[in-house]
Amino acid sequence: MNDALRTRFVDIVGARNAAVTDDDVAPHLREWRGRWTGRAAAVLRPGATAEVARILELANRTGTAIVPQGGNTGLVGGQIPDGSGDAVIVSTARLDRIREIDTQADAITVEAGVVLAAIHDATEAHDRLFPLSLAAQGSCQIGGNLSTNAGGTGALAYGVARDQCLGLEVVLPDGSVLDGLSKLKKDNTGYDLRDLFIGAEGTLGIITAATLRLYPRPRGKAAAFLAVGSPEDALALFRRARAVAGTALTAYELMARMGVAFTLRHMPGMRDPLARAYPWYVLLEISSGRSLDDARALLDSIAETGFEHGLVLDGAIAESEAQRLALWQLREAMSESQIPEGGSIKHDISVPVSALPAFMAEAEKAILAIVPEARLCPFGHLGDGNLHYNVSQPVGWDRQAFLDLTDRITPVVYGLVRAHGGSISAEHGIGQMKRQELAATKSPVALDLMRRIKAAFDPNAIMNPGKVL
Ligand SMILES: Cc1cc2nc3c(=O)[nH]c(=O)nc-3n(C[C@H](O)[C@H](O)[C@H](O)COP(=O)(O)OP(=O)(O)OC[C@H]3O[C@@H](n4cnc5c(N)ncnc54)[C@H](O)[C@@H]3O)c2cc1C
Repeated sequence: MNDALRTRFVDIVGARNAAVTDDDVAPHLREWRGRWTGRAAAVLRPGATAEVARILELANRTGTAIVPQGGNTGLVGGQIPDGSGDAVIVSTARLDRIREIDTQADAITVEAGVVLAAIHDATEAHDRLFPLSLAAQGSCQIGGNLSTNAGGTGALAYGVARDQCLGLEVVLPDGSVLDGLSKLKKDNTGYDLRDLFIGAEGTLGIITAATLRLYPRPRGKAAAFLAVGSPEDALALFRRARAVAGTALTAYELMARMGVAFTLRHMPGMRDPLARAYPWYVLLEISSGRSLDDARALLDSIAETGFEHGLVLDGAIAESEAQRLALWQLREAMSESQIPEGGSIKHDISVPVSALPAFMAEAEKAILAIVPEARLCPFGHLGDGNLHYNVSQPVGWDRQAFLDLTDRITPVVYGLVRAHGGSISAEHGIGQMKRQELAATKSPVALDLMRRIKAAFDPNAIMNPGKVL
């Protein structure tokens, strides 16, 4: 990009809100695990929707590639530009205002750069719940959450990011603004444009604000860490837990011992809640609209029925809020604690819940046939049929030599996912990581429609090129 054009972009936000030097741009060019790096002509931090509109209008006229970036916690490289150095990163960090909380309509309107945890704080202060919850919530932003249609641990009871969104404000590639900040639950007036931007990973426009659905805040939350013998038993326990608690069962997470062992080894201050090791664990949580006692009574009843039917081998029920949070820390450190163990081949997949045990048994057999000493580290949202099916390198292996086996291991995993009617991306998206797989697995009719939608919204292909399609 020539200096004159760069200056025109910088002038829109003012020099204070732009980064052009290598040092200032650098943090935006690298994904947190160092898996993807890129280059950019500038990073712009607009402070208002009108500035985003001017940036996109200029980009569209000059054919400049735009990469939207929120909290930079995405796991598929969607927020990282390519290596050309010609793209402009539009960071939403300064779009950080909460515009309105309407407790009568149970809705909150926030700008795209509001950090997810800040939405939790704001809604709690009004005695409401915003249920989207993920381990990255201290850094990820709502614009990124909606653009990736994030899932997380609350999806079991409340649904994914898409289900939490009532309306959107979006700047389109030509600079026009789609004002769809509706609080309506019901609105059948033609095609649902909002839903096209959710999960589009910044390829159709920039989300600048959203109106989100709120829920009553639970009066009591109770959590348990239960040891089970197998994924089948975890699933059988899930069915019983659902029968006992219904929609009060708000999380049901599965963890393999390997991942728990990594976490205990690498994360300071973590303690094993149980006296001995077991092959599998579930972390389940009950949220009661009535009271903490009610939540605990439901949890006790689930644990009891689990023990009675031989599904639960051992367990710890959190006796205090501090203990409940400690159980969640154990679960949430699961991704980070794999890093010191060397290379990890990762798959964010979903299959119908009923097919999970069969998928896991077949995947284990197939992967160990390729690398007998591989360390399997699956964990995730069992209640949603969504697993992070991660495979860590054998002890003593060279990291790169193991990662070079991705081309053999991943097709096997995705082949089984397909055979069980699943998805190769449950909640992280496509980004640059799964573009080839998307092309190989999505039906030609669906792919063609997606390309036509992209061309209709973004005929000059300026929005996040090289991502998704
Ligand atoms: C420890 C850890 C745990 C995680 N756990 C989960 C989990 O449980 N569930 C889950 O779903 N994800 C999880 N993630 C992934 C990640 O946090 C989510 O994808 C999150 O929604 C990304 O938000 P972000 O603001 O960081 O977006 P970014 O990473 O900045 O961007 C993600 C994508 O959205 C686009 N984008 C960002 N903002 C906008 C905007 N305003 N308009 C248009 N496009 C935009 C970007 O171009 C990119 O394609 C986890 C990540 C980490 C690091």
